[in-house]
Amino acid sequence: MAKIPMTTPLVEMDGDEMTRIIWKMIKDILINPYVDLKTEYYDLGLENRNATNDRVTVDSAEATKKYGVAVKCATITPNAARMTEYNLKEMWKSPNGTIRAILDGTVFRSPIIVKGITPYLPTWKKPITIARHAYGDVYKNTEMIVKGGSKAELLVTKPDGTTETSLIHEFKGDGVIQGMHNLDASISSFARACFNYALDLKQDIWFATKDTISKKYDHTFKDIFQEIFDKEYKEKFEKAGIEYFYTLIDDAVARVVRSEGGYIWACKNYDGDVMSDMIATAFGSLAMMTSVLVSPEGIYEYEAAHGTVQRHYYKHLKGEETSTNSVATLFAWTGALRKRGELDDNTALCDFADKLEKATIKTIEDGVMTGDLYLLSTLPNKQKVNTEDFLVAVNERLKETL
Ligand code: NAP
Ligand code: MG
Repeated sequence: MAKIPMTTPLVEMDGDEMTRIIWKMIKDILINPYVDLKTEYYDLGLENRNATNDRVTVDSAEATKKYGVAVKCATITPNAARMTEYNLKEMWKSPNGTIRAILDGTVFRSPIIVKGITPYLPTWKKPITIARHAYGDVYKNTEMIVKGGSKAELLVTKPDGTTETSLIHEFKGDGVIQGMHNLDASISSFARACFNYALDLKQDIWFATKDTISKKYDHTFKDIFQEIFDKEYKEKFEKAGIEYFYTLIDDAVARVVRSEGGYIWACKNYDGDVMSDMIATAFGSLAMMTSVLVSPEGIYEYEAAHGTVQRHYYKHLKGEETSTNSVATLFAWTGALRKRGELDDNTALCDFADKLEKATIKTIEDGVMTGDLYLLSTLPNKQKVNTEDFLVAVNERLKETL
């Protein structure tokens, strides 16, 4: 069989630890034998980020803007322990944060559903995708500890130099305060990314905030969503037969629990952080979640939702056998290849991505799985395999379909 050609390169962002090992295995075993893979390679491994003063992260995000599609391996976000482990010049920022800031995106996370791994909520039959706004709110806050007897006020200095103040609280006893913000431009990007993704997936989109309590802050989110929807998306949604639905966050949680799934749930930054872990856990495992960052201009960056699986990597370094789940990383590759195929009218590439995903799911449903899933699966014939043997088993099934 001739290899599937590619016209435009994917931006390939390599990463760290166990996921870096898996990255190479996926390419060697499942992609390079079938696809004449074209990538523009950026090594985001911590050593190279340190060597390039993190320039490589910025360059990889700029390349993503140029080409439109990237695939990213999990990377270490340095902390004090990593400073000594990697002898770092600086505590480099989270690459995901840097890339998100450059692409101004929204992160969409969906569970990969397989037979034998039953959601903890038996009503859930179809995936629930979380769309998380990735800018502002409590993630860019200012906080203070306040002594009793203090008076706290919000003070805004306007462009003309005049000021507006508003009382927060007159403290009798000790307490705390917090200031946070968001931007109309960022909220608008978030709304458009959500509506575009809903059209892409042909699924309803729900959005929820606490606008009854937060009458200016959260209400602005609600208003911007509604305005953009009415002006730009209403007709497109009608044509696609899908719906935009707004409700209060507590009502949304109750509805989500009772639902069958099969929709996108747009969340403010903090809600998205919390709810995506809830959704991932309730569906089974973080290693069975796809994650894609979508910018308002339609730029896509695919990644796994989990980290670099440090504990498994140290076992691997000691020469011990590992059984690390590669599904989320593999689906980052198939997501990127399919999107590249769609943009380049490369049907063969899209077909390949579909078949590789099907072969992966079939492998698990045949009972062949890594240790994390082995603990969860209810299949009677389940069998635990090591990291590499899982990919080999996927390849056997892939070959049958090509
Ligand atoms: P982690 O990689 O998410 O793994 C935590 C634990 O979850 C693992 O020890 C393992 O449990 C289980 N697990 C996660 N992914 C798995 C997989 N694919 N297969 C099997 N089990 C899996 O978090 P971490 O090891 O605490 O963090 C390592 C590094 O990842 C950190 O430096 C952090 O900065 C980075 N990180 C990066 C990203 C990203 O780039 N997107 C996201 C989060 C964290 P058992 O040990 O019990 O088997
Ligand atoms: Mg979180």
